[in-house]
Amino acid sequence: MASEDTFKKIIAHCKEYGFIFPSSDIYDGLGAVYDYGQTGVELKNNIKKYWWDAMVLLHDNVVGIDSAIFMHPTIWKASGHVDAFNDPLIDNKDSKKRYRADVLLEEHIQKIEDKLEKEVEKAAKRFGDDFDEAKFRTTNQRAVEYRQKAEEVRDRMNDALKREDFEALRQLIIDCEIVCPISGTRNWTEVRQFNLMFSTEMGSTADGALKIYLRPETAQGIFVNYLNVQKTGRMKIPFGIAQIGKAFRNEIVARQFIFRMREFEQMEMQFFVPPGTELEWYEKWKETRLKWHKNLGLGDANYRFHKHEKLAHYANAASDIEFNFPFGFKELEGIHSRTHFDLSQHQKFSGKKIQYFDPERNESYTPYVIETSIGLDRMFLSIISNSYTEEKLTKEDGSIDERVVMRIPPALAPVKLAILPLVKKDGLPEKATDIKNKLKFEFNCQYDEKDSIGKRYRRQDAIGTPFCITIDHQTLEDDTVTIRHRDTMAQDRVQVSQLSEIISEKVSLKSLLQKLG
Ligand code: ATP
Repeated sequence: MASEDTFKKIIAHCKEYGFIFPSSDIYDGLGAVYDYGQTGVELKNNIKKYWWDAMVLLHDNVVGIDSAIFMHPTIWKASGHVDAFNDPLIDNKDSKKRYRADVLLEEHIQKIEDKLEKEVEKAAKRFGDDFDEAKFRTTNQRAVEYRQKAEEVRDRMNDALKREDFEALRQLIIDCEIVCPISGTRNWTEVRQFNLMFSTEMGSTADGALKIYLRPETAQGIFVNYLNVQKTGRMKIPFGIAQIGKAFRNEIVARQFIFRMREFEQMEMQFFVPPGTELEWYEKWKETRLKWHKNLGLGDANYRFHKHEKLAHYANAASDIEFNFPFGFKELEGIHSRTHFDLSQHQKFSGKKIQYFDPERNESYTPYVIETSIGLDRMFLSIISNSYTEEKLTKEDGSIDERVVMRIPPALAPVKLAILPLVKKDGLPEKATDIKNKLKFEFNCQYDEKDSIGKRYRRQDAIGTPFCITIDHQTLEDDTVTIRHRDTMAQDRVQVSQLSEIISEKVSLKSLLQKLG
């Protein structure tokens, strides 16, 4: 599913079936801002619950909070965001389009790597079973050249970013002969820094309005509540604080649907540990988070770690969990060892002592922090892009039919079961409603009596409903229904009294969480 066409189809599907709408749609949208529709909000809520329960219920030492979006502006001075939350931007003078310099270079490197992979694929076909891929990669002249070229560009880019040498970054773009995709020219401006925070004013001007920021991450709301939670919750280190909430970034290259938005949602957990133990905890959380992802069954090969070479000013180790999106492997979640940077900064700027007395060590210290930070919208995108499947079906009469089925992990599916009376008469709608009224307390059910049963199945497949229950005349006689399984389309006849057990076994969040141990 790696094609641009498929990605376009997924975006169209999301709109058609109420997953995601462009924000302010009747006004032609607002750049990189999206609304979740009636189907999407259910999936989003289920992802949140899977994350929240895995963090807060499964770990005795992790608690949650919900901090405000508006915060004291000094917080962003202390955290470094006012001075350093920047992207290096470059404009093309002909098209007047603005790009992130590092993104232009990353895309260039990706193109070289794609060429290398094509060479490998071609050779694999040519040599068949005798193909020794490792040898080919290290000895074939073209393959070696591509690899060296990609490495050289990446090294120069990382070096320039690390040194914040924007002239070197621009020179690299010129040396790589990168052209603007719109104008096709290499007429580039200087590279400049651009701060990503949105600001607004609080209070009336007469009172002296305060310039405040829309938070660009939820993490700082956790740090500034560290003392409150530690004291009132009588928390002992190591412990964590989890939070789900909106974040805002004035992204310049806002593309790829909900991958990069200006208003998005994060699920973050900051884990406070004794100094010197942070790298051990960093490894533990990397594994814990990867397990959480793989547990959904989207395919283990779709995840990989990417270790950061250029560390943020606050980190002493950092990795991303990357997911194989339709446009390639990209960051889904970040796991960072943030040292004591944030707490120390807040201690300095607020003048309040932020220390922990460790009875085991018999000393006071500023805790170190491991952060796990995942974008809820990116998580949503990973699920829908992986679930979207087009299938060709051979009908009984030999003709070919097609269906689009969203193979969403059942526990996260927006609707768990559809309740469908075969016909709109003979007491079947009443019986179906009766069944729905019993099951609706446990599952998100959808009642549908319009159109043929085949069309109704397709509508449910398109939103990923794991089960469809059909009520027919036999139901009135023996209280049995047919239950249709989304993925196999197999149908079984079962007692109405068995439904709750059959469905909950497959769709309950509890079973999913139990697999995490
Ligand atoms: P990127 O390199 O893609 O800009 P980042 O490294 O700046 O991301 P973090 O600051 O580590 O991202 O934020 C943590 C998580 O928040 C990311 O892994 C991602 O899932 C999510 N995220 C960050 N920016 C956006 C955005 N503009 N839109 C949607 N999700 C985002």
